[in-house]
Amino acid sequence: MIRTSGIHHITAIVNDPQVNFDFYSRVLGLRLVKKTINFDRPEVYHLYFGNESGDPGTIITFFPWPKLAKGRIGSGQVGTTSYIIPIGAMEFWKERLENEGIPFTFESRFNETYIQFNDPDGLQLELVERDVVSENNWSTDEIEQEHTIRGFGGATLYSAQPNQTVNVLENLLGMEFVTQEGDYLRFKTEASLGNVIDIKLSPSVRGLAGAGTIHHIAWRAKDEAELQEWRNRVETKGFQPTEVKDRNYFKALYFQETGGILFEIATDPPGFAVDEAPDELGTKLMLPSWFEAKRKELEEILPPIEVN
Ligand code: ZN
Repeated sequence: MIRTSGIHHITAIVNDPQVNFDFYSRVLGLRLVKKTINFDRPEVYHLYFGNESGDPGTIITFFPWPKLAKGRIGSGQVGTTSYIIPIGAMEFWKERLENEGIPFTFESRFNETYIQFNDPDGLQLELVERDVVSENNWSTDEIEQEHTIRGFGGATLYSAQPNQTVNVLENLLGMEFVTQEGDYLRFKTEASLGNVIDIKLSPSVRGLAGAGTIHHIAWRAKDEAELQEWRNRVETKGFQPTEVKDRNYFKALYFQETGGILFEIATDPPGFAVDEAPDELGTKLMLPSWFEAKRKELEEILPPIEVN
């Protein structure tokens, strides 16, 4: 039986691309690994942030739509995105958030302490100390190697039907149930990043898509052959997967699970170095070949992003 090894990426909707870039690259210290467009809405950017190479399990992506109305975080969405920081880095991040004037709270679950805060668009983020072997060699003037975010710890799902979503995680995606604590069920996968998925059991208000909400979560597939297997399996389980789409940096399919959350399954290869050298990732506007002819037009529509 095929199993996903964990989160591939998480994609959210925000308003201002500059505000988004400043927060994820400067405040959180992630690397912009790709500046491209939403292939389905080319007048909107698609920004990808991750570790130095944008490895699966580290990638958060955004559609910045400057004038889009705010959404509401709630059921049928991913609620909170968790990032791993090294053991001992919590104090650094607490001070950093304080210095940035970002309010935060602490939550404890499954014997771990999470520092929780919102990004400028209201997305719910948290950091947790975990001992992971995974390195992130991307450090900045403000965040040294010993404190850097390594990648996703996982995510908390706000399902409209938690028991149905449990079924999808276990019997479709092949995740392993760990334990329940109070309001949360915990699942895990085999990867070292993006491998801890919590389901919140108590009902949330109904989520509304819009700025400041997560659009979808993508799970890892090894390659294109496996993605075809996934497509059959999603169908066999009674869901309606899209055709396999070419996202340039991976191939992907999408389906809505019973709890209302949009799931994607995406291949690890080819990755972000397919059209830019590893040391130049994110420095230019990259377009898929089928949009190159429209480059000039698109560059005029897309708002400029100041990357320093
Ligand atoms: Zn996606």
